[in-house]
Amino acid sequence: MSETISFFGKSFIKYILSEQIDTEIGRLAAEISEEYRNDDPILLITLNGAIIFAVDLLKRLDFPCRISCVKVSSYCGTESTGSVKGLIGLNEDVRGHRVLILEDIVDTGRTYQHLHRMLTDAGARDIRIATLTLKPDAYKNDLPVHYVGFRIPNKFVIGRGLDIDGYGRNLNDIYQLATSNEQ
Ligand code: 5GP
Repeated sequence: MSETISFFGKSFIKYILSEQIDTEIGRLAAEISEEYRNDDPILLITLNGAIIFAVDLLKRLDFPCRISCVKVSSYCGTESTGSVKGLIGLNEDVRGHRVLILEDIVDTGRTYQHLHRMLTDAGARDIRIATLTLKPDAYKNDLPVHYVGFRIPNKFVIGRGLDIDGYGRNLNDIYQLATSNEQ
């Protein structure tokens, strides 16, 4: 596969290799299995982006758990709109349960805060998050981010579930938006 790809006239450069991603997901799965083995947690997948990370992670978890999905949206193209819209709500009784949110990326943390509030209101006993990527320089939230695959700079990325206007999710590697002198 090429080192550079384009969508909508924007160039993206290969940034994190598929093998590295699989290794990190294996490490996260081991940590999460250790923490939740006896707790019958609910794993909450945020559609659409976290689907691919969730599948890769779930296959490696060795304890009984249930999954549920929600859909929220805050991005348009490569920019955050600044507000989080709930598109598909919580369809599971989480009262008294430990919930682990699965995310493809945590950027400002607005989505996480929105989901945390929703789960708290729904009576979840304990709320944590596992994310494939985190942008620490963009994160503006006091909530802890418990399980992180990759800490990345504040640049737009696609692949492994991450999209640009719907495209790029099925790339196995993660690609970073090229700056003008890299194109
Ligand atoms: P937050 O609410 O943490 O600011 O942003 C979370 C959402 O913004 C993610 O679920 C994702 O949809 C989108 N997002 C933030 N940064 C990126 C990025 O670098 N690439 C892509 N594809 N989406 C991003």
